[in-house]
Amino acid sequence: MSNREIVKADVCIIGTGLAGLAATLFAVNRGLSCVAVGQVGEINFATGFLDLLGVHPAGKKENAWTDPWEGIDILVRDIPKHPYARMPKADIRAAFEEILNFLEDGGLLYVRRMNQNSAALTSLGTRKPTYCVPRTMWNGVVALEKKTACVLIDFRGLKGFSARQIAAALQPDWPDLRTARVSFPDTDHLNEVFTEHMAGALILPQNRRKLAQTLKPHIKGAQIVGLPATLGLYRTEEVVADLEEMIGVPLFEIPTIPPSISGLRLKEVFERGLRAKGVHYLSQNRVLEVQHQTDNYFETRIGRTTAEQIVRSRGIILASGRFIGGGLHADRQRIRETVFDLPVYQPGDRSAWHRRNFLDTRGHLVNQAGVEIDDSFRPLNSSRQPAFKMLFAAGSLLAHNDWKRLKCGAGVAISSAFGAVKSFIRIDR
Ligand SMILES: Cc1cc2nc3c(=O)[nH]c(=O)nc-3n(C[C@H](O)[C@H](O)[C@H](O)COP(=O)(O)OP(=O)(O)OC[C@H]3O[C@@H](n4cnc5c(N)ncnc54)[C@H](O)[C@@H]3O)c2cc1C
Repeated sequence: MSNREIVKADVCIIGTGLAGLAATLFAVNRGLSCVAVGQVGEINFATGFLDLLGVHPAGKKENAWTDPWEGIDILVRDIPKHPYARMPKADIRAAFEEILNFLEDGGLLYVRRMNQNSAALTSLGTRKPTYCVPRTMWNGVVALEKKTACVLIDFRGLKGFSARQIAAALQPDWPDLRTARVSFPDTDHLNEVFTEHMAGALILPQNRRKLAQTLKPHIKGAQIVGLPATLGLYRTEEVVADLEEMIGVPLFEIPTIPPSISGLRLKEVFERGLRAKGVHYLSQNRVLEVQHQTDNYFETRIGRTTAEQIVRSRGIILASGRFIGGGLHADRQRIRETVFDLPVYQPGDRSAWHRRNFLDTRGHLVNQAGVEIDDSFRPLNSSRQPAFKMLFAAGSLLAHNDWKRLKCGAGVAISSAFGAVKSFIRIDR
């Protein structure tokens, strides 16, 4: 026990997915000392698009919102316990503003229309309504709208990304869309290629030159080229600008299946930027136990398998995600919250978790499961009171938030993180 390092902080953020990272940014920007701890979350698999609200009520394409802000008004009327209902829209706007500025400072640029969703291309050839699009993917949004003469290119050996499949879905109303398959430079001898390796290789200018030489013969009159998201994990803007100059037409990326370079870029920019702001960042670590001490601080034991560090903090923001992140765990009977054993909103018995038809347009009740909160983003105990004065929760852990179907994953993560930090500061006074 005596060998364990004790770190003191104002707030300990549990989870380094988008919600935890956003909460850490909002907290450190407001002068709070922060420890952030977590492992792999959904962000590593995410497309990089930042959804605000795509569809409501979920389940029907006709319910897609052009103006997500208008959609939020209807959503909070229909689902008064949805996380968006806990905060004014001005706070959601402010949260996005702060995140986008931070990402831009870190070299990761996003494009959005202030009051409008855009249709972004996916690796299935579908159009996803989203709010903020990585700049490397924005040309694809515009090309899809204008039906610009385009060649979509995929790489031999890259699983789960077929230019032909994407084009087949889009060609009926995009006649000037062609496809080509090429080998990524120096991978001809490989049966399988991986996005991380290609993105890493493009850091070197000589590999960019080789890729440009490979792409050029396939342009043949196309005004734009689409590629899987592989154009560098770091310095992406530079990689794209270089390639565009060499091939003579603009480029755009399409997100790939996980692990996704566009999700990893987000994570990398956050980690780098938060460390630079002085955050004590414990990646690849888990919270093993939290004790609430009588004199009103939390003692959080952190390590890989045994406690190696102890964090003493006045408050905690719990952003531990759902099943992928590890914040929720389902056994044969019930769903548990894994850090504090907080009550979890869930259907009465397991047979009600899923509907019989996987594609049921009403969705599955298990996707509404999560931790219920008060208006200050504090998880409720079994008496429906705040479990602790200074425990807050954010992100996909929150109940009444079927984010996949509503297409509001990043929006809930970012805005609830903002709400949690704002409440932390107000209640801490
Ligand atoms: C395949 C995929 C595609 C997606 N695409 C999009 C998209 O296009 N647009 C969009 O807006 N959203 C998308 N999302 C969703 C979005 O990424 C999530 O909604 C959002 O990241 C939720 O983040 P979160 O931080 O709440 O949870 P998570 O990302 O799951 O993070 C949870 C964190 O908690 C940590 N944790 C859990 N237990 C502990 C513990 N005991 N100790 C320490 N740490 C712990 C985990 O290690 C992890 O770091 C996608 C998600 C997936 C999986």
